[in-house]
Amino acid sequence: MCYAIPAKLVAIDGQTGTIDYFGEKRQILLDLDDVAVGDYVYAQGGVLVRKIPPKEAEEILEHWQTIFFELKKTDAALSKIDQNKLSSNALAVLQKVNLRKSLTPDEMLSLFNLQDEQELKVLYEIANNVRQREHGNSSCIHGVIEFSNYCSNNCHYCGIRKDQELPRYRMSIEEIISAAKEAVDEYGFKALVLQSGEDFWYDDAKLITMVREIRKMGVLVFVSLGLRSKGTYQKLYDAGARAVLLRFETSNKDIFAKLRPGTNLADRVQLIKALKAMGYVLATGFIVGFPGETNNDLIQNILLAKYLAPDMYSFGPLIPASNTPLFGSPKVSKDLILKTIAVMRFIDSNSNILVTTALETLDRNAKQEALLAGANSMMINITPKHYKELYKIYDDKADVTKEIKQSIQETVKMLYELGRAPTDIAAHAVKTRPSGQARG
Ligand code: SAH
Repeated sequence: MCYAIPAKLVAIDGQTGTIDYFGEKRQILLDLDDVAVGDYVYAQGGVLVRKIPPKEAEEILEHWQTIFFELKKTDAALSKIDQNKLSSNALAVLQKVNLRKSLTPDEMLSLFNLQDEQELKVLYEIANNVRQREHGNSSCIHGVIEFSNYCSNNCHYCGIRKDQELPRYRMSIEEIISAAKEAVDEYGFKALVLQSGEDFWYDDAKLITMVREIRKMGVLVFVSLGLRSKGTYQKLYDAGARAVLLRFETSNKDIFAKLRPGTNLADRVQLIKALKAMGYVLATGFIVGFPGETNNDLIQNILLAKYLAPDMYSFGPLIPASNTPLFGSPKVSKDLILKTIAVMRFIDSNSNILVTTALETLDRNAKQEALLAGANSMMINITPKHYKELYKIYDDKADVTKEIKQSIQETVKMLYELGRAPTDIAAHAVKTRPSGQARG
C-alpha cells in the first residue's frame, strides 16, 4: 500500500530541490542531508521527507507507470465544465474566475446566495476545474493520531472541552510512537498529524521526543496542539516538525470571544502568523455554521484565511456535540461547505484544500463531492480504535467504528475513481530551514 509516488530529484538549488513525477515537476524544501540529483525521494507538503533506495523506488514506479496516466485521464474528464444552464448573473462572476480575475466580496456573496441546483453544479464544476488546472491530479492523504482528549480550554462548541464529562485518555509517548510506526511501516503513510486537546501534561520534553522519533521514520510531522507558546512550537520545529494545523475558528471576534472563553482572536491569529514565520507548512481555516454567523462573516473568514497565506486550508461544518453549550444548534447544510470550498478555491486558486472529518460526519458522501468542488487533500484517522471512540470533539464522528485498513481501502478506491494520484501537492512556497540546523 503506497501513499506517495516516489519522485526523482532532478535539480538542487541551495535548500530547494526540483522533483519529477513522470515529467511533472515540483519544488520542494530539501529537509534531509546527503541528497543528490538522481536520488529517489518522497515529498509531502513541499518537504522532502525520505530518500528511497533506487531498486525499491523503481519497482514502485513501475507499478504506477500506466496507472498514473490513466488517473490523469479520468481526472481531466471529470474536470470539464458545463456552463449551459447558468443564470447570466452567476455566469458573469464565474467568467471572471475563468479569466483569473479576483472576486470582490459582493461577488463572493452572490456565489453564496446561489440556490438553484443546476447553478450550484456549475459552481462546483468550475472550482474543480480550477483545482485541476492548478494542481493536476495530485492529492494527498495524511494520517491523524489523536493522542489525548484532555483539554484545558472550554470552547462552547467542542465535545472534549474541559467541563465535558467523558472518559479521558492520554497516550504515552511510547504508545504514540508505536502507533506512528505502525502507520508508517504497515500502512505506508508519509505524513502524520499529531492532534490533541490543549493538554499540558505533554511538556516540551515529551513533545520533542515524540516529534524527533516520528521524524526519524521519514515522514512529515504535522502538529495540531492548539494554543501552546511560540517557544514550544519553535522547539518542535527544531526537533523536526514541519507542518502545523491551527484554525482561527471564526474571524468574528465577538463570536470568538463568546465561544472560546478566556482566549481571543487577536492572540490566535498572531500565533498562526508566528508559526508561518517560523517556517512551518501552515494549515488553517475555520468552522462554518456558528449560531449568529452570517454569509458576510463567512466571506470575512475566507478573506482572513487567505490573508494568513497558508499552504493548506481546513474548514468544516459545526457538528453540535452533546452536552456542550452549542448542542441543538441548527444543522449546517452540506452546500454551505461546498460553496466555501469552491469560493476559497477561486480566491486562492493554487491553494490546497482539505476535506475534513466533520464534513464527512455531516454527510457520508460529502468527501467525494468536496473533492469535486475544489478540495484536493484529506486525512484518515489512524488513532488506535479504543481511543478514537473517546476523541469526541463532536457526535457521530465519521470513521470511528471503521478499521484503519477499511478507511484506507475506501479512500484509495475513491481517489482512483476520481483519477487522483498521490504525487505531492505543491506547497505555496518553498520554506527555508533555520541555518545551521541538522536535517532529518
Ligand atoms: N486543540 C487543537 C485541536 C482541536 S480539534 C486546537 O485547538 O487546534 C481540531 C478542530 O476541531 C478545532 O480546531 C475545531 O475547528 C474543530 N472542532 C471542534 N469542535 C467541533 C465541532 N463541534 N464541530 C466541528 N468542528 C469542531
